[in-house]
Amino acid sequence: AAPSAPVPQAAPSRAPCQPAVFIPVDRTPEIQEARLKLPILAEEQVVMEAINENPIVIICGETGSGKTTQVPQFLYEAGYASCIDSILGETFTIGITEPRRVAAVSMSQRVAKEMNLSHREVSYQIRYEGNVTDETKIKFMTDGVLLKEIQKDFLLSKYKVIIIDEAHERSMFTDILIGLLSRIVPLRHKKGLPLKLIIMSATLRVEDFTDNTRLFSVKPPVIQVDARQFPVTVHFNKKTPLDDYSGECFRKVCKIHRMLPAGGILVFLTGQAEVHSLCRRLRKAFPYQKNNSCCLCPPLNVLFSSFLSQALPKIDLNSYSVVPVDEGDEDRDIDSDDDAAGSDLDLDLGDGDSGEDEKSDSSLPLFVLPLYSLLAPEKQAKVFRSPPAGTRLCVVATNVAETSLTIPGIKYVVDCGKVKRRFYDRITGVSSFRVTWISQASADQRAGRAGRTEPGHCYRLYSSAVFMDFEKFSAPEITKRPVEDLILQMKALNIEKVINFPFPTPPPTEALAAAEELLIALGALKEPPTTGRLKEQLAAKLSCPISPLGRVMATFPVAPRYAKMLALSRQHDCLPYTITIVSAMTVRELFEEFDRPAVSEEEAAQLKGKRARFLQMQKVWAGQGPMQKLGDLMVMLGAVGACEYAGCTRSFCEENGLRYKAMLEIRRLRGQLTTAVNSVCADAGLYVDPKMKPPTEAQVTYLRQIVLAGLGDHLARRIQAEELLDDKWKNAYKTALLEDPVFIHPSSVLFKELPEFVVYQEIVETTKMYMKGVSAVEPEWIPALLPPYCHFGKPLENPPPSYCPGTGRVLCHRPSVFYRVGWQLPAVEV
Ligand code: ADP
Ligand code: MG
Repeated sequence: AAPSAPVPQAAPSRAPCQPAVFIPVDRTPEIQEARLKLPILAEEQVVMEAINENPIVIICGETGSGKTTQVPQFLYEAGYASCIDSILGETFTIGITEPRRVAAVSMSQRVAKEMNLSHREVSYQIRYEGNVTDETKIKFMTDGVLLKEIQKDFLLSKYKVIIIDEAHERSMFTDILIGLLSRIVPLRHKKGLPLKLIIMSATLRVEDFTDNTRLFSVKPPVIQVDARQFPVTVHFNKKTPLDDYSGECFRKVCKIHRMLPAGGILVFLTGQAEVHSLCRRLRKAFPYQKNNSCCLCPPLNVLFSSFLSQALPKIDLNSYSVVPVDEGDEDRDIDSDDDAAGSDLDLDLGDGDSGEDEKSDSSLPLFVLPLYSLLAPEKQAKVFRSPPAGTRLCVVATNVAETSLTIPGIKYVVDCGKVKRRFYDRITGVSSFRVTWISQASADQRAGRAGRTEPGHCYRLYSSAVFMDFEKFSAPEITKRPVEDLILQMKALNIEKVINFPFPTPPPTEALAAAEELLIALGALKEPPTTGRLKEQLAAKLSCPISPLGRVMATFPVAPRYAKMLALSRQHDCLPYTITIVSAMTVRELFEEFDRPAVSEEEAAQLKGKRARFLQMQKVWAGQGPMQKLGDLMVMLGAVGACEYAGCTRSFCEENGLRYKAMLEIRRLRGQLTTAVNSVCADAGLYVDPKMKPPTEAQVTYLRQIVLAGLGDHLARRIQAEELLDDKWKNAYKTALLEDPVFIHPSSVLFKELPEFVVYQEIVETTKMYMKGVSAVEPEWIPALLPPYCHFGKPLENPPPSYCPGTGRVLCHRPSVFYRVGWQLPAVEV
């Protein structure tokens, strides 16, 4: 592989410290041997020449070809982390961004190990933690972390190279970084301190970067790393199971394990709960005990495995033919090829579904491991080790195994074809998790996992017809979610006309407009001029400069609504409480009861009991007092307060139905946010005392007002009896953002209280539209705290709509918010 079409770029001026040295690395022989097998090692020369000669280089290669672990080492050896900046007098760092935290942590550990260096030199930084030191030479970080660093130092002067990894994932921050770096690289060049940019991607749709003239005026060279991909035979199901894909996975794994030669199995499911439940079922069916004697008498299929694997059909993944299906043959759901060699694998697979939950004595034990992003790193690392002798490895994973992590020894992939995604309404931000079909590109990535070390098989639990209906690629994240946090970060970088930014794929104009609107309402952007024609006004709106408040907000590593709450909390010693509430709101579910559906009635009752016990415990900390009015946010604050009061132990959490992990995460977030606050207001001098005194009555009032100020656009009012047109909307609320009314979620402490005015943290769509994280609001606060939302006087019959430029879509314009909710503001003295 050679650089394709090496278009000459601006002649590189010899940098003041163009690396010329070779920095030796002391690797163990085992590591060295493993490295030599990676396809990218054959390309080291080509890669380094391209990097030395071009400011921007794109490296494409199949997952597992060694990009993430090896390219930083090439750069290190070539001296990119050793030359000293003549101005700063410090050595440069090699920076690598990853869209997933899992990858940043695990890759930094792997590279440190391969290079025989400590975590002081090969380090990581993710949003809330890291081990970076003054000696750090190679720094893995999440893309969001680098974006924050650009805010502090636009030229990224401490880096000599930036690697943007997994660019094909098209995460929102990765996209923005590429846009920003397309401008930073020429700027650094002008300053005589060239910065190298390396974009690494799986071989997917690289044209979005290379052929984008807004992004790069000169097309960067693309180095294609030829991965040693063995052929993978793809087997489609005849029929697509509609609901029970998890059960189908179980049956498929059982059959593979019983019938097919040795080789690891990788199953793709959609979520953590499913992963665990399948792991349990499989462990029960094929138990593995340490010291298992099975390995003394390997069953036939192991003895013949080498013979059989030679006989595997050679079908290239990129040109596989769809396996013809015999319609009459209902039970055989591991379809065989009509290829002659296929019949070797085609042992009797039609063994029905009975009895598979029972222990099977005839098979090897299965060494079953879960893998998902929230799994503790040391448990994740298990998948990289070889399974105990005499067992077969079976990894049950979510999407993380698709491209971020490569598991060795996988020969069989079982792909349910689904993925769990969070869907947002771009305007209202209402989100819901939905399980949907993956894209064709994802399906092919998943299949490719089977052919890393030898030819493999991929069993797709859906028919080829369904596959043909999949979208080709999944759309970039930036086009799918609300972008207010991104826009605030960009404004803080003084990018005012966001619409002109060189996005690899621009977000929809309506999403930009909605974000701008929200940020103006929060006071993070300066108000646009209100005179002039409507069109000009709206155009101006998409280029409002940041306000001083916005600058403060942008420094906090949380969403703008929460950042506003933090920025307002310096009064009355409220900061520690706001920090706690914001931390708790950022962490997924605090209570076991609402974390996942109970599997039995007994369990449900048990969880209810724990919850009651918790509410009692909370009173021990907070008393009976005024905190109740904070609603769900009070419960969050109380959960942390009571838990820390009791020393935040696992046993306390278990007894009271709290998620221990969530509590630990909150503690970490509190520390992080406190540091962030201290760095913004040097005189704040906060320190985290995990144990808090409960807030006073006055503080609770302030906290409620702070919450209202931050979540102002999430205001809702209960539909009054006289307004009720349809009984189905009894106890429902009208919100400013949604057409249809919504309900308070049953998990809320205000579920039965039904205050007239509330603000909510988010609306989620499950069986109905529900508000979660609800707290009560006093009506007279609204005009005082949310002037931009207020309009005094009678509601209009036809509120003036506001149009979103370029789309013709009607947005919910601020002055109309109150018309839509349909209430008259109470007269108040302000
Ligand atoms: P790419 O970035 O091209 O997908 P990687 O550099 O991530 O490739 O992986 C290269 C190889 O290193 C893979 O074969 C993978 O299995 C191996 N590897 C990665 N992390 C670890 C680890 N923690 N332990 C053992 N092997 C690992
Ligand atoms: Mg990688």
